[in-house]
Amino acid sequence: MAFDVEAIRKDFPILSTKSDGKRLVYLDSASTSQKPRQVIDAISGYYKEYNANIHRGLYDISRRATEAYTNSKDLVARFVNAESYRNIVYTRNTTESINLVARAWGDANVKKGDRILISQMEHHSNVVPWQQLAKRKGAILDYADLDESKSFIDMNDLKEKLGRGPTIVAFTHASNVLGSINDAGKITEMAHKAGATVLIDGAQSTPHFKVDVRGIGCDFYAFSGHKMLGPAGIGVLYGREDIMENMPPFLGGGDMIRSVDFQESTWNELPWKFEAGTSNIEGGIGLGTAVEYLNGVGMGEIREHEVKIVKYALERLGAVEGVVLYGPDINNIDRRGGVISFNIKGVHPHDVATIFDSEGVAIRAGHHCAMPLVNKILNEPSVARMSFYLYTTEEDVDRAVAAIDKVRTVLRIKK
Ligand code: PLP
Repeated sequence: MAFDVEAIRKDFPILSTKSDGKRLVYLDSASTSQKPRQVIDAISGYYKEYNANIHRGLYDISRRATEAYTNSKDLVARFVNAESYRNIVYTRNTTESINLVARAWGDANVKKGDRILISQMEHHSNVVPWQQLAKRKGAILDYADLDESKSFIDMNDLKEKLGRGPTIVAFTHASNVLGSINDAGKITEMAHKAGATVLIDGAQSTPHFKVDVRGIGCDFYAFSGHKMLGPAGIGVLYGREDIMENMPPFLGGGDMIRSVDFQESTWNELPWKFEAGTSNIEGGIGLGTAVEYLNGVGMGEIREHEVKIVKYALERLGAVEGVVLYGPDINNIDRRGGVISFNIKGVHPHDVATIFDSEGVAIRAGHHCAMPLVNKILNEPSVARMSFYLYTTEEDVDRAVAAIDKVRTVLRIKK
């Protein structure tokens, strides 16, 4: 079926609402995506028809809930080309997935004096857990620099830092600030050659283009349901089975055990060993439906649409005097996701976002949970950011460009 953005938009009830009397233009999908009716219905259907706890009920609705929850893991596994649902651990979000690895794997495998390698473009969720691990263990945290364009990881610097023999390498597949898409397969291969375990932050990639964890060859891959049309509170950690089998559990409690005695316990099989307590059942069901929806549209089609929108937006924004754009330029569009960070010379990004809001255009301004990148590399206290998804139209971009005009008029900036 041909990609039809207007038909897609009809599936998202919020997109036909108004903000201050104007049609809502939602340009903050990198923060969280909007939800289609199908996902909303799947969650309310669970509550209305088969709400029960999973894994322990000997009655019909509990069996149905267990089946729907497990089925969602099959869908997620196929979505990222994982071996099976056994490789798919549900967490709260990307942040918890990374913390799980830093705690459970990190505490067991990282020793005093070891090196941990991340990059300068990481979100705080792929910085702070490694800082904490380094402090707990007396390890050294290294950063791969960005290249001169301040858009991509500098591969020469990466090579040099891999030469120091890190125990783990963790990097983002796609940057939430720059929009850059890293060559995950190549970096993983280089890191493996250097003897490191590899974790990839897939928060901004999984929702937007086809991810193939086995093709990439990584050991761990983390992402969030709420950025890919699913509900908040459900995240995913993909892990290689042999590694996860040998990892101690993260949290202890119900469901993650096989047996418990007064002093000792044994662990449940994968992936349940890493899911302690009652799961986010409705979250899993909602995420499974989101994956079905994305499959129905086609990840290739979604990527193609976003490239078109980003190109259009870069052209339009690039023509506005005083607008500073960050991240890969238009010639590197094939290595750019649907995120555009920008500033208007002489205007604080918070004022930009506030005036955009008065025009019904929702964007974000700040450090975007990447303070080292924004403050130290881009040298800005904060930046404004618009981000796109399968439901974004060129008209949305036009409204954003018109809002820039409003910023200039309100703040009396010379044109
Ligand atoms: N990594 C990246 C690149 C992100 O953009 C985000 C969220 O914006 C995260 C990690 C954290 O995601 P969450 O807040 O869902 O844990």
